[in-house]
Amino acid sequence: MAKEDFYDLLGVSREVSDAELKKAYRKKAVKYHPDKNPDDAAAEEKFKEISHAYETLKDAQKRAAYDRYGHAAFEGGGRGPGGMSGGGGGGGFHDPFDIFREVFGQGQGGGGGGGGGGGIFDEMFGGGGQGGGGGGGRDGSDLRYDLEISLSDAAKGIEKELSFRKAASCERCDGSGAEPGSKKVTCPTCRGAGQVQRSGGIITFRQTCPTCGGAGTKIEKPCSRCRGEGRENKSAKVKVRIPAGVDTGSRLRSVGNGEAGLSGGQPGDLYIVLTVKDHEIFERQGQDLFCEIPIKFTLAVLGGTIEVPTLFGKGSLKIPTGTQSGTTFRLRGKGMPSLRGGSQGDQLVRMHVEVPKKLTDEQRTLLEEFARVSGDADHPTGEGWFDKAKKFF
Ligand SMILES: [Zn+2]
Ligand SMILES: [Zn+2]
Repeated sequence: MAKEDFYDLLGVSREVSDAELKKAYRKKAVKYHPDKNPDDAAAEEKFKEISHAYETLKDAQKRAAYDRYGHAAFEGGGRGPGGMSGGGGGGGFHDPFDIFREVFGQGQGGGGGGGGGGGIFDEMFGGGGQGGGGGGGRDGSDLRYDLEISLSDAAKGIEKELSFRKAASCERCDGSGAEPGSKKVTCPTCRGAGQVQRSGGIITFRQTCPTCGGAGTKIEKPCSRCRGEGRENKSAKVKVRIPAGVDTGSRLRSVGNGEAGLSGGQPGDLYIVLTVKDHEIFERQGQDLFCEIPIKFTLAVLGGTIEVPTLFGKGSLKIPTGTQSGTTFRLRGKGMPSLRGGSQGDQLVRMHVEVPKKLTDEQRTLLEEFARVSGDADHPTGEGWFDKAKKFF
């Protein structure tokens, strides 16, 4: 059942835009189309796989689900946030840091659990569930790490090293729980079966062995370091690449960097939940960035060019003659990038025209002279307003 990854099938990256996805699909579809490959069963199979992959990825919701759970998202149903199991067999995630928005409802308690190293994390999805196939051990829990980044880092993307403490595989026994050199013995309770039979009235049912947890073996001599648990609390460091365009609430998954599994179970995943800090100048409005810039009234009247800060260095803006306070200009492509490879947002710059609060004698004289030669013709948008206002008097 090792299905090939949908993105790999189409030969695209996980950040592929919708347009690029379509293009890649068309190219592959043409190549493997049954009309072009008559009597070629392999090509036909490939064609079906490609079509299926494209059908899934072109649908935003399905794509998010696939990014989240891999092929398992569409198998057997019933995969909710509660029932994630870390392992889950073959296929799936090749990119350990795929990004996704929360699509499966809310409800993970926010705070709680003080963690080391600045971040706060706690268990997200309760116990990790039973390991998928083989092993019989218990999967490690998923962990959550709350990470705060600046708007500038969110705009450009950044690599961060996270450090935190977690239950990791014991170094002395390599996670087995057995003292090095000691043997594993058959579990006396289930005699190696991993299950025990219980009877309740006339019904008998089988149950995972409580002594060995289904492993069928028991440790002869527990590891002196972890006391047989196979795990120890250790500090861990994980490097994550945060892609450009993330927003508050974006979550990254780092596969296998959660808690270590027990008795051969799969490790859990690490979820990085992002908060993008407010910026002193810019306010984010979706993919656009908004800011207000104070300009001198003489500049507004006469026009000119000003320097404008952007998250990507200095930009410049031409102020036309007679610019009114409140006028908003657009700097194209200076907003936030798109996570999915779409076009970049814009920066919106609103003019705040400032008038001087104090005047020198010379300034006053010049302005009085200006007022005299202007007469009543110096409020361009005001004229209509005064006509309307007259009706009230
Ligand atoms: Zn140990
Ligand atoms: Zn047992």
